[in-house]
Amino acid sequence: EREFGKESVRTTCPYCGVGCGVLASVSADGTVTVSGDPDHPANRGKLCSKGTNLPDTLGLAERLLHPEVDGQRVAWDEAIAAVATRLSDTIAKHGPDSVAFYVSGQLLTEDYYAVNKLAKGFLGTANIDTNSRLCMASSVAGHKRGFGADAVPVTYDDLDEADLVLLVGSNLAWCHPILNQRLLAAKRTRGTRIVVIDPRRTAAVDGADRHLPIRPGTDALLFNGLLVYLADNHLADNGLIDVRFVAEHTAGLAKALEAARADAPSPAHVAARCGLPLAEIEAFYAEVATVRRTVTVYSQGVNQSSQGTDTVNAILNVHFLTGRIGAPGMGPFSVTGQPNAMGGREVGGLANQLAAHMGFEPESVDRLRRFWNAPRVADKPGLKAVDLFRAVEAGTVRAVWVMATNPAVSMPDAARVRRALARCETVIVSDCIADTDTARLAHIRLPAAGWSEKDGTVTNSDRTISRQRAFRPLAGEARPDWWIVTQVARAMGHAAAFPYETPADVFREHAALSAFENNGTRAFDIGGLAGLSDAEFETLAPAPWPRRVGEGPTRRLYTDGRFFTDDGMARFVPVTSRPLPRFAEPGSLMLNTGRLRDQWHTMTRTGLSPRLSAHAPEPCLDLHPRDAAARGLTDGALVSLSTPVGMALARLRVTEAQRVGDAFLPMHWTDRFTASCVVGRLVDDLAVDPVSGQPDLKRMPVTVVPY
Ligand code: SF4
Repeated sequence: EREFGKESVRTTCPYCGVGCGVLASVSADGTVTVSGDPDHPANRGKLCSKGTNLPDTLGLAERLLHPEVDGQRVAWDEAIAAVATRLSDTIAKHGPDSVAFYVSGQLLTEDYYAVNKLAKGFLGTANIDTNSRLCMASSVAGHKRGFGADAVPVTYDDLDEADLVLLVGSNLAWCHPILNQRLLAAKRTRGTRIVVIDPRRTAAVDGADRHLPIRPGTDALLFNGLLVYLADNHLADNGLIDVRFVAEHTAGLAKALEAARADAPSPAHVAARCGLPLAEIEAFYAEVATVRRTVTVYSQGVNQSSQGTDTVNAILNVHFLTGRIGAPGMGPFSVTGQPNAMGGREVGGLANQLAAHMGFEPESVDRLRRFWNAPRVADKPGLKAVDLFRAVEAGTVRAVWVMATNPAVSMPDAARVRRALARCETVIVSDCIADTDTARLAHIRLPAAGWSEKDGTVTNSDRTISRQRAFRPLAGEARPDWWIVTQVARAMGHAAAFPYETPADVFREHAALSAFENNGTRAFDIGGLAGLSDAEFETLAPAPWPRRVGEGPTRRLYTDGRFFTDDGMARFVPVTSRPLPRFAEPGSLMLNTGRLRDQWHTMTRTGLSPRLSAHAPEPCLDLHPRDAAARGLTDGALVSLSTPVGMALARLRVTEAQRVGDAFLPMHWTDRFTASCVVGRLVDDLAVDPVSGQPDLKRMPVTVVPY
């Protein structure tokens, strides 16, 4: 048992995928103080504004403090029994796939593991998806196609050691601020050049040497053109194009090149389609051709697209052709949005995968059945987020358990999701905040432990597993999510399979599963951590995976040129850049959505901090001066936005940072703060990546008129 308030505790920031280490302490009067952990490899003592202001978000006023069933406060026993009974009854009447779980990258890995085990191993449904589907599902799918596994090649150290960093669809300065600081430090000390590829002139452009404000949805074309340019102009030059690497460690170049040539036959073609001057394209291609140490960072501008997976593979193709992977300062790098998006991937948090990075192949299903001694392991993928809520709407999913996320406002076509939840027979919400837009629709509300009370692990964007540690007692009757799931599983008759008393118990099982019958062909293996004692789990230092039995930590992957495909070869993937068309009314604009510097998701926590809210007190729509003038709009005016699925009201900000024809709206505001500007109600769910199931949240036709 940790004694609270005696000393500062090493924990991890609960926001973005950088996964910064935090030193937290509580004074005698309850005041919480935080600072960056100088020993954490991600942040080396620094914190951004969100991390610095974490103490502002820890009050009890907004917390859900007691279990409730049908609007009545009840004891935990009663709440657990109600959940178990309603899930059991629904399954008994309508089968396992009539229940579903929608969970979150905010969960700790132990929470994620327990709920996945319950759903996929003991309820027999793979209908468990996560808000990570809106975040990095396309990167996962692209990694599997290219590497044979969802195993990120690089580490943050590679950003320090690169000579050229491409930021594709990534406003690193606001969304991953500490990484941006590391990058700018590398620029100062070693002259690293930075290229930003983004339709908007974001804060990341401030530190960049080149900005390519491409037309939205043309990233894959740009990288296809780069592949052709490199192949045609530099294949044999000075080792910059790695002929040996391509021959010995890759497969499929010919077909990928054929597709790229058909798609992007010349820089002039690329320039015309991307909406950029030819000279800019040629200068960019020439720079990439001549700098070997190149890291390509990609984020939501790539992932949140109806061709996100293809765009990821177009990027990977370039790294394979140049052999820029598996060595210092080079590689493709997906930076995740959430603190534990990677941990969720590790335990099967997506509906189309099982635990420990396994898919639904019969041997994996059987392996899991034997490891868990589980009666009915789900043997086919479940519903991905958009389809999951469509099934709720259709009534085929009759009970849904939402954990630590707010789909009633954050899903695309959120009004439809809200209507579906309002009609659903059973909605269970476990959350640390009482009044979320989704919790208002719940029949059963379960108070979950929040940051500062939770204990377990998270995995950040560069595969580093860090401890999140409790440094304050649980608020009210709040309980950790893994505990809640464990109690429900026991109440449903699965006590033997859910013996956990501590998060360390869950972690040890999770680590053991990663190594179970794993001969090295499955990427994810932290079997070396399976034997941790409680004391060793308590003091666990940041540890990257893989961490195999008998081995130390592995930082950079693919250093030997071997990938996780059957033959060990990386796969070029033929890409044809065809984002789903968006049919716009004449005069409409293309709406892009994204984060602000000082807010997080739907503001349930960061909205509690006056200092964070001061950065952007209200939602503003960004428009180029020409688009504003064409509509008779001036800076600061109130404007109405309408799309085929909804309407919103925002204040106008006229800025040359926008492309002509594009608009930008931040994603954070909800009914709790303003009923008039909910991005989820403006964006539809019709354009979805066919491989990953990730919805396109960056290209929605919108009409803007004076209010
Ligand atoms: Fe937290 Fe991300 Fe900021 Fe680090 S960069 S302090 S993880 S929000």
